[in-house]
Amino acid sequence: MSFCMTDPTNEPWTVLRLLDWTKGYFQRAGVESPRLCAEILLAHSLDCGRVDLYARYDHQPDERQLADFRENVKKAAGGQPTAYLVGHKEFYSLSFRVTPAVLIPRPETELLVDQAVAHLRRQDGPTTCWDVCTGSGCVAAAVAKHAPRATLLATDVSPEAVLVAKENVELLGLAERVTCATADLLNVPEAWRGESLFDAITANPPYVADGDELGAGVEYEPASALRAGQDGLAVLRPLIAAVPERLRPGGVFCVEFGRGQADAVRDLIVSTGLEEPTILKDHQSIERAAVTRKK
Ligand code: GLN
Repeated sequence: MSFCMTDPTNEPWTVLRLLDWTKGYFQRAGVESPRLCAEILLAHSLDCGRVDLYARYDHQPDERQLADFRENVKKAAGGQPTAYLVGHKEFYSLSFRVTPAVLIPRPETELLVDQAVAHLRRQDGPTTCWDVCTGSGCVAAAVAKHAPRATLLATDVSPEAVLVAKENVELLGLAERVTCATADLLNVPEAWRGESLFDAITANPPYVADGDELGAGVEYEPASALRAGQDGLAVLRPLIAAVPERLRPGGVFCVEFGRGQADAVRDLIVSTGLEEPTILKDHQSIERAAVTRKK
């Protein structure tokens, strides 16, 4: 870390120069998407949008902003996730507040939103959707945004996560249609006033096997949102078993799972009497989600 300390060239630290320097520093430190990460952190320290940086390349941040940026650059180079440092993450083109109490939303999870929204929009009249293991509430909020006649229940076993989900739902102006509550899997919480059969259920449960290595930075995320026993199916198993009694006939269930779990998830789904699922691949062509229907 050298910027704004000893600088042999004595050139001013402009936005452009900070971004270039930090990108190189991140590259050497092995940070993923180094340029993007530098932009997100600098925009945060300057309290502006990432795109606003492009119009401010010659701008020279003040000492306080530089000190704030420098702190976060150090932490990011040490492996801390950018989303936790700035406190938000984009998902389905919406901005979500995130804290270390919740998993950072990932692009592959957008598959769940696509499936639920497509199904809910095909129905006439009002619909209901339950997003279980909601974490930050990203899936529930994105579904609510794009299925305007739907009422949603968003639950998580972690009360700390539910607080974050609630905050996101409120920030996005969706509190009237999305109820956030603490609940273990598909046990209907008292806060839910609707009926207990749903048109759609979505879930991104923990599914990483205890012995499996986590990706870079993932160790900063809540283990309870990631780990699921020796085979990674410890949550998927009881969750899938509980789906049929919560779905309306014709209702859809869409669930995310880990690499190599497609066959096991298919078997679990079929054994409950739900329809043979369609397996969906993520943007890296990895089998990542299953969508099925109640007959
Ligand atoms: N996809 C995440 C990871 O591998 C895991 C998310 C989850 O367990 N639901 O880091």
